[in-house]
Amino acid sequence: MNAQILSSFRNLIKKEPSSQGPAFADTHPDFEIIALGTRSGVIDGNLTSYMVRPLGRNEAVLCDAGTLGHGLKIAEQKGSLDDIPIMPDSSLSRAGHVLKQTVRAYLISHPHLDHIAGLVLASPDDTPKPIYGLPSTLNALSSHLFNNEIWGNQGNRGAEPAIGKYSYQDMESGVAQTIAKSDLTIRAWPLKHGPMTSTAFLIETNGKAVLYLGDTEADKPENGEQKLHELWEAIAPLVKEQRLKAIVMEATYTNDHPENALAGHMTPEHVLQSLRDLALVCGGRHYVRGLKVLITHVKETFHMTENPVTHIARELNDGNDMGIYFLMAKQGESYLV
Ligand SMILES: [Zn+2]
Ligand SMILES: [Zn+2]
Repeated sequence: MNAQILSSFRNLIKKEPSSQGPAFADTHPDFEIIALGTRSGVIDGNLTSYMVRPLGRNEAVLCDAGTLGHGLKIAEQKGSLDDIPIMPDSSLSRAGHVLKQTVRAYLISHPHLDHIAGLVLASPDDTPKPIYGLPSTLNALSSHLFNNEIWGNQGNRGAEPAIGKYSYQDMESGVAQTIAKSDLTIRAWPLKHGPMTSTAFLIETNGKAVLYLGDTEADKPENGEQKLHELWEAIAPLVKEQRLKAIVMEATYTNDHPENALAGHMTPEHVLQSLRDLALVCGGRHYVRGLKVLITHVKETFHMTENPVTHIARELNDGNDMGIYFLMAKQGESYLV
């Protein structure tokens, strides 16, 4: 695996299986992941947001919504929404149909602005939906965001009057919930992200799953911090049975970023170290060979350096001793997994 790291899963499916080893060319995809926003930092039109939908059905969840309306428009321009079987019934664009009709729920990992700004801005044009999250996330949204001061209260808790368009759905670690009007089941686990609790979501249908990780820092077992390890223990059976189709996770900074300035984020070396831990939990590296890992949340700055996406891709690739199939997420692209 080298140059292929930057191509998309979808493109690879159209090619002959790679002679370089892992059988990642998925001839039987179960999900489509559409990247509506893929970065962090000063690139405010492209902040973390992933649509996950089971193929063939007009339903999806949004994992975070840092960029939403703009991301949907870009996805529409790139043709990435063309396969969603929407039911056109008005003068709305395809992006509008997808927002109002296809997206059945938001899964919000944590309340940092780069994960919710798009949700706020699109809310007046949105249809009623549940917002799923850990109680700490939902309490922050209802107290500090949808509170009639920062924005109108679109939620069903907190400041009066409450419009109630969004219904908050508290999740409990590891406990499955089925999303209304869909065949999707979700589970959540807490992640450590500096002083904040972030969240990993598992989205399942027909026994297959996609795992989305919000912002997270590396485990520090010496300090008793091992949220990623606990997550890997929970999802290891899916990996071993080849039912986990893809992981979306962050690599925010390059390896040379000072350890004391990571602000609750990961470098490529942290990602690799954590995935080695996943392999160990599963019982061997052969279990993670060919596992698709879509990398998100690369930080954009004003520094005149090498493109950080290219830099991080290279660092992941150079340290990839497990045959993981890494891809750098690109806004508006569709990934079949
Ligand atoms: Zn964050
Ligand atoms: Zn973030």
